[in-house]
Formats: sequence, structure tokens, C-alpha cells
Amino acid sequence: AVLEQIGRTENRIHAYVTLDAEGAMKQAAEVQKKIEAGLLTGPLAGVPAAVKDNLCTKGMRTTCSSRILEHFVPTYTAEAVLGLKRAGAVILGKTNMDEFAMGSTTETSAFGITRNPWNTEYAPGGSSGGSCAAVASEECFCALGSDTGGSIRQPSSFCGVAGIKPTYGTVSRYGLIAYGSSLDQVGPVAKDTADCAALLEAISFYDPKDSTCVKREDYDFTAALTGEAKGMRIGIPAGYFGEGLNGEVREAVLQAADILKERGAVVEWFDLGLTDYAIPAYYVIASAEASSNLSRFDGVKYGFRAEGYEGLHDMYKQTRSQGFGPEVKRRIMLGSFVLSAGYYDAYYLKALRTKALIRKEFDRAFSSYDLILAPAAPDTAPRLGDSLQDPLKMYLGDIYTVSVNLAGLPAMTVPCGTDSKGLPIGLQLIGDCFKEKDVIRAAYAYE
Ligand code: GLN
Repeated sequence: AVLEQIGRTENRIHAYVTLDAEGAMKQAAEVQKKIEAGLLTGPLAGVPAAVKDNLCTKGMRTTCSSRILEHFVPTYTAEAVLGLKRAGAVILGKTNMDEFAMGSTTETSAFGITRNPWNTEYAPGGSSGGSCAAVASEECFCALGSDTGGSIRQPSSFCGVAGIKPTYGTVSRYGLIAYGSSLDQVGPVAKDTADCAALLEAISFYDPKDSTCVKREDYDFTAALTGEAKGMRIGIPAGYFGEGLNGEVREAVLQAADILKERGAVVEWFDLGLTDYAIPAYYVIASAEASSNLSRFDGVKYGFRAEGYEGLHDMYKQTRSQGFGPEVKRRIMLGSFVLSAGYYDAYYLKALRTKALIRKEFDRAFSSYDLILAPAAPDTAPRLGDSLQDPLKMYLGDIYTVSVNLAGLPAMTVPCGTDSKGLPIGLQLIGDCFKEKDVIRAAYAYE
């Protein structure tokens, strides 16, 4: 049925970079056998799922929506995807994204744009726009995305679906093609909180192959689906609701806060410091790490190699010039600049210090509150083409999401209404480190 739905809508939406219908039917038959033999139970057995194209899948092309990896077929599968498969999910294919996850609309993909299923004149958000559009258009029941600075939460908001960015270290990054390694986390996208909790449970486990993976004892995230919000302390950062926030988004998010209050939560306004510094610190750190991470794509080890070069240096140059798109090049240049001798202290080190101070601000907030309630983005989905004109403006749209990655916190987006254009609005709930269960509990109680 999902493949039929893909047949009906994929032409318009273009959520997938690679579809493997035949492989999916095979996996489904195997899962069916296991279910019948009593070897497989649980909520994800047989559920059609999609995977963002920056997660390696053995034998299936993994492109990061970049020319430079157009024909790259990994020899191993990312741990998070293996977790999904162990739970019995059927992998349909790989979803479109901003090139190397750099962007906020999925328009920087080298393989064409993805359209927002609610209105195809609009962007689905990004960078996990393909995953979120696939869920919203019922071209799969659930998907994996990655979130370095909002790439799960913002497109979830724009597509009216639910998505979780877990605490840094909860989901193995092994097999996730790195963007900003100290910020990247894999997470679930689905229609609602219960589905997201089941997915997160399947992909969270200790993995010694990722040195930043944390051994936890509370992977039973579905236990938080109690429907109970009584006594939860929720803080609303006043600074997030001032200038720059669309009025309809503000209203919908504050209405969600009222609902949580009615359901027994204690809701208060408070001041979260340093919010103005989150975007500059994020773009310095993320670009610095990206410039280093992307140095491996040199035409030798993976994928694309330019033709007609003269010597090794020219081969690197031609390959990288032709293989990377403009946004990726911008980040590599920015990252190389802030890491270069003479500027390192002024930019990179300062950004790291800012990151530490932002974390302290959150620590202070979480000494008074269980959760922070915020919008996921300052506006609803932009019209296709509008964001690419002005990269700086696009970066500013990440205001409510990037500080969560800088502090390593868990956060979730759930739909909380639509604007007058009929486009979805997302509510963001942010928890303290390792408190996914608080986030899930509140989101489920709100729904
Ligand atoms: N829009 C942000 C960026 O371009 C976040 C992307 C992400 O989380 N991968 O860096």
C-alpha cells in the first residue's frame, strides 16, 4: 500500500533520492516469516520506513544529496539503521536532504528539490526535508533523520510531523556521514509522539564503535507515554517570543502551552541568556568541523572523480570544484577561515567558549524547569526559491534550534496547528540532557 502511495505522490513530492521497491518487498517477506515463526514482535515489525541519505546502507547508494557521492555504495550499514532493521522495519529507500545536511529547505540537494506535501509551492524545510515530506505524504510510516542544528525539528515543524533530536551520545553516529561531529545526532521522524518513542527505542543502544556514544540504562522511551503532564515544570523563554517571530506561530505555540497548563503542568515565563550568540557560535563550530570532515572527499577514496585533470593537486581541485555545491563550498571556506592560524583564537576558540556559556544558561534553566517550551522555527515553511537568495537570512531561521545542539540537549517537535495559509506549525519541547522521557511525556500529554 505504501509503494502504491509512493506511485501516486512521489512525482509531485520527490521525497526519495533512491527507492528500492523490490528490496522492500523482499525484506517484508522475510519479516513476515519471522513474525509468523514468533521470532519478531514489537511495534515496528513490518513497518515501512525511510532513511535519510546521509546514513550508510550496505549495498544501497548513499549520496548525502551530493554529486561527489552520487555513485557511492557503502560497504556497511549505519548502526541506527541496523537498529531499525532489528526491530523489523522495512527500509524503502533513502530520502532527499540538503547537500551534506547543510541548509534549511532541502533545496541545496544536487538531485532536485523536495516539495512540501501540504502545499507543493512551499519547501519542506531541511535538511531532513525528504524524511519529513515522506512521512507527511504517507510515502512511509516513519523515517530517520539527522539533526546538527535543527534538521529534524525544523522540517518536522514545516511538514506537520513529529521528530526527536536525542541527547548527544544517545544514538550511535557510526555510519552517519559527518557534518559537525560534536553536534550531529540521528533521530526519528513519524506522525506522532508514540511512533517517535518506539523508533527512538529501536535506534538507541550503546555502541563502542562511536566513542561519543553513552551507555544509558533508560532506553525504554515508550514507558514515558503515560499521558500525564501533572506537576511538570515548563519554562517559556521570553526572548524567544519577541521580534522576528511570526504572530501566528507565536499564538499557536502559546496555545499549546495553555493546553499543557490545563493538563496540570506548571508553566512560567523566564529569561534564557545568550540567545543572540547561538547562531554565530553554531555557524563557526559547525563550519569548522564540516571543513575538516569534508576533506576526505578528494576523488581518491569515495565516489566522484573529475576527468581531464593534470596531476594530483589538480585532481583534488577539479573533483572538489565540480563535486560540491555552492552552500557546501561556502561552509568549507568559512570553516577553513575560522580555523586558520591568526583567526583560530578570535573565532573558533571564542565560539567554543560561547558554547560552554550557552550550556551553563541551560543548566541554570533546568535547575528550575523540567522542560523549555519554544517554537521550532520563527515562521512556517518558506516558498520554494525564497531562502536561497540570502544565506544569512536562512541561517537566522535556525535561532530556536541550534542552541539545543550546542548544549547537547534532547528536543522534540510536535505539530500544534496551522497558519492562515494552511501550513503546519510545530511546538518544540526541550529537555535536560538524558531527559528524553520528560520530553516524550509532555509531548504525548499535549497530543
Ligand atoms: N540549517 C542548519 C545548517 O544548515 C542545520 C542543519 C542540520 O541540522 N543538519 O547548518
